[in-house]
Amino acid sequence: MNILVTGGAGYIGSHTCVALLEAGHTVIIVDNLSNSNSETLDKVKQITNREIIFYQIDVTNEKAVDNIFAIHDIEGVIHFAGLKAVGESVEKPLPYYYNNIVSTLVLANACQKYNVSNLVFSSSATVYGDNTVPFVETLNLLPTTNPYGETKVMSERILTDIAMANPSFSVSILRYFNPVGAHESGLIGEAPNGIPNNLMPYVSQVAKGKLRKLRVFGNDYPTVDGTGVRDYIHVMDLAEGHVAALDKITAGVHIYNLGTGQGTSVIELVKAFEEANDIKVPYEIVDRRPGDIASCYADASKAKRELGWIAKRDVISMCRDSWRFEKNNKDSGTSLWLSR
Ligand code: NAD
Ligand code: UDP
Repeated sequence: MNILVTGGAGYIGSHTCVALLEAGHTVIIVDNLSNSNSETLDKVKQITNREIIFYQIDVTNEKAVDNIFAIHDIEGVIHFAGLKAVGESVEKPLPYYYNNIVSTLVLANACQKYNVSNLVFSSSATVYGDNTVPFVETLNLLPTTNPYGETKVMSERILTDIAMANPSFSVSILRYFNPVGAHESGLIGEAPNGIPNNLMPYVSQVAKGKLRKLRVFGNDYPTVDGTGVRDYIHVMDLAEGHVAALDKITAGVHIYNLGTGQGTSVIELVKAFEEANDIKVPYEIVDRRPGDIASCYADASKAKRELGWIAKRDVISMCRDSWRFEKNNKDSGTSLWLSR
């Protein structure tokens, strides 16, 4: 199929493009490069030995998006493009609501106009809020405590309503748990701007000596060792989940958790990283981070049952592949970030 991939130069998008190309699909990438760079696309070509079509456009630009649908015979859309920093969304809600909601509206509109009936949407486990684990797709959604999470809840709702009103429209909503790791080549991976917010890139940068020590946010949660538990999923497993979702897409709205179903605590992840890479990761326990929940992991049985997809890579592979990319990644430099 000819797949339009919005945000295809980003972390999850670039790995998904590798999986799509390897499965024989053609990809047309649109990205405004606000949180990525075009070198990543060269690496995707290098890994797959396939050509890709790329347009540097903003998905909120209706005219520019219309033009892409007019030029190409698009058969499916995967919508990754969006802003994703939870903390920043609290400080700057307007660009988050604008970017994440308007992009979804513009794409849905273009799909309708050009009779493109297959759309896969990047959602997040954050929509479950502080529900009881494991999170299953049928749970009632709870408030997410931040504008980023609300944009995911709203986009899910918008796409659901459109699909209800248009029975031939097929929407697959994928709720990601915690994507980590990198392509095994070490050529593409997660390279956040500035000091990372997320655990795995922070751990990798401590291992590299770029950051002094990890701050573990709280050790008094009701979990195995008191630290927060998350369902870390290798980004290539996640990428393959998108290929499976496209292969099996059918009319209506279908929601799938993409996770491993296994919870890992912060301390367990640090220990796995040290073991996988034979390197020390110094850490200290500090206060809880506001807005964090104790535990978040998936019931991933629906994706297995309906898509025939399961996550295959374990936490050790996630740590090994994250570290390989971190070591290779020149952008990530060797200078210390301030005094952290
Ligand atoms: P990312 O920032 O690496 O990739 C997003 C890409 O979209 C970037 O390349 C950015 O330049 C582009 N983009 C942003 N706004 C755009 C716009 N208006 N027009 C065109 N391009 C635009 O993020 P990611 O981690 O790859 O996340 C991809 C999607 O998955 C996002 O929707 C994110 O909310 C969702 N998600 C991510 C995670 C995670 O932990 N990484 C978890 C759950 C859900
Ligand atoms: N975490 C931590 N120190 C950090 C970053 C994260 O202790 O520098 C913890 C965080 O409290 C949570 C887990 O690691 O329990 C995963 O956090 P991340 O931000 O990666 O994902 P999210 O909270 O969005 O699930």
